[in-house]
Amino acid sequence: MKQTIIYKLNPTKEQENHLHNLCSIATKLYNTDNYQRREVWDKTGKILGWYDARKPLKDNIWRLLLHSQTADEIIHDLSNNYKSWFKLRKKDNKANPPMFRKKERLSPITFNQGFRIIKNKIKLSVSKKYKQEKGIKSIEMEFDLWKENKGTAKMCQIVFKKGEWFAHIVYEITEPKINLNNKVMAIDIGVINTAVTRDNQGNSTIYKGGGLLSVQRYYNKTIGKFTSKLTKQFPKRHSSKTLRKLNKKRNNQMNQMIHTISKKIVNEAKENNVKTIVIGDITDIRKGKHWNKKASQKLHSWSFSKLTQQIEYKSVLSGIRFVRVSERNTSKTCSCCGTIRKNNRIKRGLYKCKICGKTQNADVNGATNILKKYLRLFNPEDRSSGCVTQPKVSMIKNVLSR
Ligand SMILES: [Zn+2]
Repeated sequence: MKQTIIYKLNPTKEQENHLHNLCSIATKLYNTDNYQRREVWDKTGKILGWYDARKPLKDNIWRLLLHSQTADEIIHDLSNNYKSWFKLRKKDNKANPPMFRKKERLSPITFNQGFRIIKNKIKLSVSKKYKQEKGIKSIEMEFDLWKENKGTAKMCQIVFKKGEWFAHIVYEITEPKINLNNKVMAIDIGVINTAVTRDNQGNSTIYKGGGLLSVQRYYNKTIGKFTSKLTKQFPKRHSSKTLRKLNKKRNNQMNQMIHTISKKIVNEAKENNVKTIVIGDITDIRKGKHWNKKASQKLHSWSFSKLTQQIEYKSVLSGIRFVRVSERNTSKTCSCCGTIRKNNRIKRGLYKCKICGKTQNADVNGATNILKKYLRLFNPEDRSSGCVTQPKVSMIKNVLSR
């Protein structure tokens, strides 16, 4: 499993000059390569592959000034851009080939090798040529905030954005071995409740989702109001500092809550010694077929797929198998007698079955159906799904309530 962490860098003035140099050289190499590709295209109507583009650049000064891996990555990037342009051209003959980059632009530089992370510091190697010219062996900078992680750094990209320097580091995380048992927990992600769990030992927890939705609603309303005010004043403007700030604040708070909920859910699984988590695949929800209009309005696929991803990530790190099953019919089916009825879902989050007469929490019913579906598909010998006693309720703190 891969994880990307973005660190803000704290370069000294001198280090900043070197980063500036290298990223500007990267732009020059990009444009040099682009120039030769355009020439070949004009003459032959063919596009250069990575290998053929790299060969003539062997002694190019910009290529020599960059770490060889970094230079290769730039040529690689451009090859891909040309490939996609070539494809696009077949459909649209007016499509423009990849553009030249502005001279002053600072292109990102990528390291697959030639970088090391030692605690809160990153060390970038420079090429032989750069060393000769500038008299430095490497650039060693500090991160602004250091986050401990369990992975091995595989790739690093230095990016200049809005006056600041960042390192995007991709870590390869070793997944712990899973010792499977027959304990399974299903999760239903919903609208009224953010999530409901149900395992085959009879445990069930309702994670109240008012928080997640009200944060989303609050910000969307505020952002909407502000946008209409802005466009009334300045018809051509769609963004402002306040708007960007609001968006950032909303995303931060949503992320924080999604992190909390997913952590609680995976902890519940760990406490009950569950080794398999099965989740209803929400692609069906997004189509909005079995949701009323108001509900699908509330349901922003962004936060829900983010929640699923976070649960998956935390499960895998905890040595729990993560499985998705289609959510089709799981909200319409009665988990007691198995009848599928469209209009069985009734008000106030209760599911009442007209056939067997049982009334239960609609999301607990959904989670039970996901659990049963999984057991039917993957574990046909073990049909026992346990009797649910009283579901527990877990409140997720709403960041807006003060
Ligand atoms: Zn029933």
